[in-house]
Amino acid sequence: DLYQTPDTLKPRYVRVNTLKLDIDSALNELGKQFMVQKDDMVPDLLRLPPKCDLHNHPLVMNGSVFLQGKASSMVAAALDPEPGWEVLDACAAPGNKTAHLAALMKGKGKIIACELNKDRIKRLEDTIRLSGAPNVQVLPGDFLSLDPKDPLFSKVRAILLDPSCSGSGTVAERLDHLLPSYGAGPASDTTETERLNKLATFQKKALAHALSFPAVERIVYSTCSIHQIENEDVIKSILPLAASNGFLLATPFPKWRTRGLPVFEGSEHLHLLRTDPVEDKEGFFIALFIKRGPPFETTT
Ligand code: SAM
Repeated sequence: DLYQTPDTLKPRYVRVNTLKLDIDSALNELGKQFMVQKDDMVPDLLRLPPKCDLHNHPLVMNGSVFLQGKASSMVAAALDPEPGWEVLDACAAPGNKTAHLAALMKGKGKIIACELNKDRIKRLEDTIRLSGAPNVQVLPGDFLSLDPKDPLFSKVRAILLDPSCSGSGTVAERLDHLLPSYGAGPASDTTETERLNKLATFQKKALAHALSFPAVERIVYSTCSIHQIENEDVIKSILPLAASNGFLLATPFPKWRTRGLPVFEGSEHLHLLRTDPVEDKEGFFIALFIKRGPPFETTT
């Protein structure tokens, strides 16, 4: 049964929303019901046994903890914004990473959360409200149309870019590919290739645009895709522009074992980060650009 997914073996993760609750209180509270431990890599992330159903848990309902996977929680942590900074979340809805940024920034400074899709803006606003983040300004519209010279962005020091992607790193989507009715035959292969090409074109444009904001010194790019075309190829194509704007790739989570595919020098050892859809149960990709040169590593 294709839908007898490894999901049943997947540890559950919750991210403690430190704007509302401290880690020890969360450990105490969840520890009354579950075996819970701190994640070894991502601050504020707690690991629970597979199959724990937390959807209706009071801490989830009141926004003290968020049901957020490990890979997804690594993105804002890799960007590592400081309290007081101004940060732009370029493709923000439903807002899990926006809320995480706000917590990392201790509610200080400012986050501008840009989102194009009207329906999803509502979900973004709901997430922000639930998180209690006092420092988020929702900006409806197309990230690509934002003018980097607009005074609104003159102090933006970091950009989180988590653009639309194929979602091929999520288990359900991956298994869908194995169903006979899905993706079979040359016609749908072509459609899939076209879809990936379109996504990659947008992803490259968005990353190039992020590089053009004058005060930005850190950019994190992430997808929940396993496809090279949306990941290493996007980064490789943007490297010359990044270099000419003074950006270099940094090493997010230096202790993490899985890096990028061998597409350019350093991609498989150092610079990029992949999570494995089988071993980690979700396939994510993270690249971190920084403006000042090495040696620079994220502290996590
Ligand atoms: N970062 C979000 C989170 O962690 O909750 C998930 C972001 S989702 C992968 C990508 C989002 O980008 C979608 O909500 C989509 O509507 C939005 N989007 C797509 N194109 C956009 C554009 N040109 N400008 C702004 N947002 C865009």
